[in-house]
Amino acid sequence: MVGTDSKNLNTSVKFLKGIGEKRAERLQEAGVESIHDLLYYFPRRYLDRSHINKIKDLKESMTATVVGKVQSCGIKQGRRKRFVLVLFDGTGFLSGVWFHRAEYWNKVFEKGETIAFSGKVGYFGDYQMVHPEFDKLSDEGDSDFLNTGRIIPLYPSTEVLGKVGMDSRGFRRVIKAALKNYAQELCESLPREILRRQELIDLRQAIENVHFPKDKDLLRAARKRLKFDELFYLELILAYRKKSVAIKRKGIEFLKVGDRTKKLIKSLPFELTAAQKKVIREIRDDMKKDSPMNRLLQGDVGSGKTIVALICMMMSVENGYQGALMAPTEILAEQHYLTIHKFLEELGIKVVLLVGAQRKSERQEVLRCIKEGEAEIVVGTHALIQEGVEFKQLGLVVVDEQHRFGVMQRATLIEKGLTPDVLVMTATPIPRTLSLTLYGDLDFSIIDELPPGRKPIKTHWRSDKKRSEIYKFVKEKVEAGAQVYIVFPLIEESEKIDLKAAIENYENLKEGIFSNFSVGLLHGRMKSADKEEVMSQFKAGEIQILVSTTVIEVGVDVPNATIMVVENAERFGLPQMHQLRGRVGRGEKESYCFLIATYPISREAKTRLSTLAETNDGFKIAEVDLQIRGPGEFFGTRQHGLPELRIADIVKDTELLLKARDEAFDLARRNKQILNTENMPNRVQFFKNYRDKMELSRVG
Ligand code: ADP
Ligand code: MG
Repeated sequence: MVGTDSKNLNTSVKFLKGIGEKRAERLQEAGVESIHDLLYYFPRRYLDRSHINKIKDLKESMTATVVGKVQSCGIKQGRRKRFVLVLFDGTGFLSGVWFHRAEYWNKVFEKGETIAFSGKVGYFGDYQMVHPEFDKLSDEGDSDFLNTGRIIPLYPSTEVLGKVGMDSRGFRRVIKAALKNYAQELCESLPREILRRQELIDLRQAIENVHFPKDKDLLRAARKRLKFDELFYLELILAYRKKSVAIKRKGIEFLKVGDRTKKLIKSLPFELTAAQKKVIREIRDDMKKDSPMNRLLQGDVGSGKTIVALICMMMSVENGYQGALMAPTEILAEQHYLTIHKFLEELGIKVVLLVGAQRKSERQEVLRCIKEGEAEIVVGTHALIQEGVEFKQLGLVVVDEQHRFGVMQRATLIEKGLTPDVLVMTATPIPRTLSLTLYGDLDFSIIDELPPGRKPIKTHWRSDKKRSEIYKFVKEKVEAGAQVYIVFPLIEESEKIDLKAAIENYENLKEGIFSNFSVGLLHGRMKSADKEEVMSQFKAGEIQILVSTTVIEVGVDVPNATIMVVENAERFGLPQMHQLRGRVGRGEKESYCFLIATYPISREAKTRLSTLAETNDGFKIAEVDLQIRGPGEFFGTRQHGLPELRIADIVKDTELLLKARDEAFDLARRNKQILNTENMPNRVQFFKNYRDKMELSRVG
């Protein structure tokens, strides 16, 4: 029973006509609680007349969709137990076969039902599809859609714990009822001018047509409108965030470019590349402004970000503020410290290092220096922001290898200082679409050029059968003076086993094929002091072959190391391997990267390995990675609070994304009211969640 006062989209689905407790429960299991949720449960795809193949026209190995009646179905014993369903469409027979869970499928289907099958056609005496995608079509109106040309929405079916849940047909029924009773409650949420400018249909029409499209054009228009919605609110949140940072906090104006910076640039053993100069100019211009900088610096591995960071920190120092550089690992912090220290020694600028490994007395002294402002540049890990480190006057924070840092950490960091400018650096290129969504509130600078004289790294992907050949090659190169990294995978889930394997391999290599060389071992479980010792020996050339787990993944810079061997390369992700490869090719010498894969390997692993063998371009690699993993997995974006989009696809809908972004930023610029988050329609649960996350981490 539906009372007038409960005609509200937040009404529980159980009050919908035709939904009993049991159905409501099933819906809840699928995450659908309110009428609103139900209206935003979008079809996974559609069936229309033009998509349907006649069984008599099927050919082996084509992908087809067929609609027919279940002629017979049941479990067949035989060599392999299976569930078989025979479909008849008036022109011929097609069977669907399921090899797993035959009992389950036996409960799903009934003789006489009208069903659509989609899948690849096989031929074994008759046509069949193995594990086809299927949809039941037998509710009213469905069966005659072939004649009327109606487009039928197909919904993701639900299934919980092996129990048959709500199927596509069930969804069609309840959504139809929901639309009938509640569609008038859908209020338009976008300003009329945006609808007009972007040629979007209104919300109610869109929701109605995304479920039960009147025709193809309306379906397209409905999808466009709903995609736009998702992207628009996503961007609006970012626009809001960006604006609130700018409004609420006055930042520091770094106006002076002093002599010491000029001296530093002159003293460099190389000329800055044009790209480095360009980004330094961009960053400086931004630092001069009185709003706090929030900028992302992208540059492929080896593009020379460290020196850019240093020059920018000098800008802070010259204006009487401290600069801080945070790295994701102690090894990297240590290395940055050494590099920076070397550059700044002559200029008399005090640089300190703060890492967990330091002795208490040493640490206390460092902390004092930072607090009293003696330390002009502070290098550390992200512990720098976690513990009670007090700065005298923090002006600029540089975060290296950002993808390891969450949004939350960024916020904590900003609370530390006055209103420091923030520069986030990443060597993992971010495809444009992602950067506009994920980091849409940041400004960008891109170093799109490598220092001159770098040769592309010769990358080979080989099976482990070729290992001895590769090691023989390595041996010859080491004899000729080269240094080598050999990296073994180590992932959290199998940390113990992986570590053991890495250590065993180290011992075998050391005693075996490389017994004439000095071989070192580096892994995350070692004491910091020992790690440092190994790294400095490798840097000094005392260790020729460094066997390591992925602790060396980011940032390590030893130009004489020219060979990277990655073992079990099939287990590594693309960005990770690109990072690892970036450890070589840092000097003028020819460099090599061998990716050794232990078979059998998955198709995705093959794509990853061949991509690396084909290109050294980090942006291309990032695009492939995004395609393989999808935006959700890409860099674990979920941690960064990117909501799961239901209908828009930030990889495919780039054009719409750009438009939505323009409109959202334009609106945020002109309309102060929008700064009140309460004005944002909380129509979709995931946006609410997203917004909450953003609120928590808001830096303003
Ligand atoms: P990344 O961007 O990967 O952090 P680094 O800052 O570690 O790269 O720089 C890689 C190497 O290139 C370092 O040895 C650095 O001294 C050197 N380098 C940086 N800029 C230049 C340049 N303009 N010309 C030549 N070498 C450079
Ligand atoms: Mg670096």
